[in-house]
Amino acid sequence: MEYALKEFFGYSTFRPYQKEIIETILEGKDSLVVMATGSGKSLCYQVPPLIVKKTAVVISPLLSLMQDQVMALRQRGIKAEHLSSAQTDSSVQRRAESGQFDILYMTPEKACSISNSFWSNLLDRGICLLAVDEAHCISEWGHDFRVEYKQLCKLRSTLPNVPFVGLTATATEKVRKDIMHSLKMRDPCVTIGSFDRKNLFYGVKSFSRGALFVDELVGEVSKCVATAGSTIIYCTTIKDVQQIFESLAKAGIKAGMYHGQMGNKARDESHRSFIRDEFDVMVATIAFGMGIDKPNIRYVMHYGCPKSLESYYQESGRCGRDGIASMCWLYYTRGDFGKAEFYCGEASSESQRTAIMESFMAAQRTCDNCTTSRKESDMSREAFLLISSIRSCGGNWGLNLPIDVLRGSRAKKIINAQFDKLPLHGLGKELSANWWKALAYQLIAHGYLTETIRDTFKFVSVSSKGLQFLSSSKPDDQPMLVLPVTS
Ligand code: ADP
Repeated sequence: MEYALKEFFGYSTFRPYQKEIIETILEGKDSLVVMATGSGKSLCYQVPPLIVKKTAVVISPLLSLMQDQVMALRQRGIKAEHLSSAQTDSSVQRRAESGQFDILYMTPEKACSISNSFWSNLLDRGICLLAVDEAHCISEWGHDFRVEYKQLCKLRSTLPNVPFVGLTATATEKVRKDIMHSLKMRDPCVTIGSFDRKNLFYGVKSFSRGALFVDELVGEVSKCVATAGSTIIYCTTIKDVQQIFESLAKAGIKAGMYHGQMGNKARDESHRSFIRDEFDVMVATIAFGMGIDKPNIRYVMHYGCPKSLESYYQESGRCGRDGIASMCWLYYTRGDFGKAEFYCGEASSESQRTAIMESFMAAQRTCDNCTTSRKESDMSREAFLLISSIRSCGGNWGLNLPIDVLRGSRAKKIINAQFDKLPLHGLGKELSANWWKALAYQLIAHGYLTETIRDTFKFVSVSSKGLQFLSSSKPDDQPMLVLPVTS
């Protein structure tokens, strides 16, 4: 094994889990491999054929990805080919079934539609494994479900004694079970690697959508382009993709676009140009997903919140596959989180979420929580005023009215409800409405206030924790409530 690793790949040691996975395959057992992007999953199915001199068949979802991998393997002196409807060389199938290739990539469609005689001929020559890359595509619970992947179960009866290997960087428990079940795996050896991507720095910033911010973003991207490799900017809408793309192009930055309204051909071309470094920045919706096998992506920016924590891990994880320090910044507006069900999306099972969170927490100085020195201060008095105002106004309003009361407004609504008679009316006038709102968001986040949505309106009320805080003392000798300073 070590010889093949050195001889063909030039590496002297295996990465964690690789050796054990290869051993399992060589023993003829089925395997499920769940490891982070860039952790070296491909090597697990690329080494066995070089040792046992039998063909490894690899099912992969994207043609462009297969072609790139075939090219890279050939450069290492490995006999690799691909079979798909796009294969123009008619002799490939014949050569493949006579066992002439170490590694044979196939699309799921091809693998399921090719003749039985192909498989029996190849079996006679020897198949050392059947790998299903991006195996989560098989599951309807996953985020990239592909109907063609569902058909792969047919191969189990065609290749009863061949070890099956499912590989993915993402698998909630549900998806994991689905992969094993759908591929009819037999007592598979399951390997779950670390989710920690040590070379990635994560940061979040709030922003307001609009031309001003786009200019700022263009400035930041141009700095990044000047110093580093490629950037992906993920947007939540096609309109945003187009706007940012145009602004980058105007600023002379070589950028490409990728979204669902582009035709297949245009998308493929865009993908390829990005992989080949013909442009530095890809502005895309999440349609730009699978098969971004590009090692030198230095920066993944999210212009708006992703769908779920799980998707964020996937999308940002395309950064820094080569192990070199890279950045992921997420720009969010508060509204994004509500829409996206970021914390409670179906795909983010509790255990997966915990695993991701723990790996972030174990890492040191790899996120903005560690690197920015946050000023904190005692906000007890202000919190007391704001919570009191919300309670005194009856808890049936959004944030604006109780804040206006604190700031001494004499608006008609306030006079009519006699809120101008409240003792706290005007006590917070030295601070801006936005300052109070920022404090309110912190109090919501810390559980002192509760935000509920009824008929698309947001209401803010005082939670039991907030009531406890109010009842514990008078405004000026409150227990300390230390919160980050809002500007
Ligand atoms: P994955 O499929 O898990 O996303 P890859 O198989 O593409 O990851 O591997 C990521 C990078 O790590 C590739 O450039 C690969 O050549 C490299 N790599 C894999 N295994 C090793 C190893 N044992 N030593 C050094 N580099 C490795």
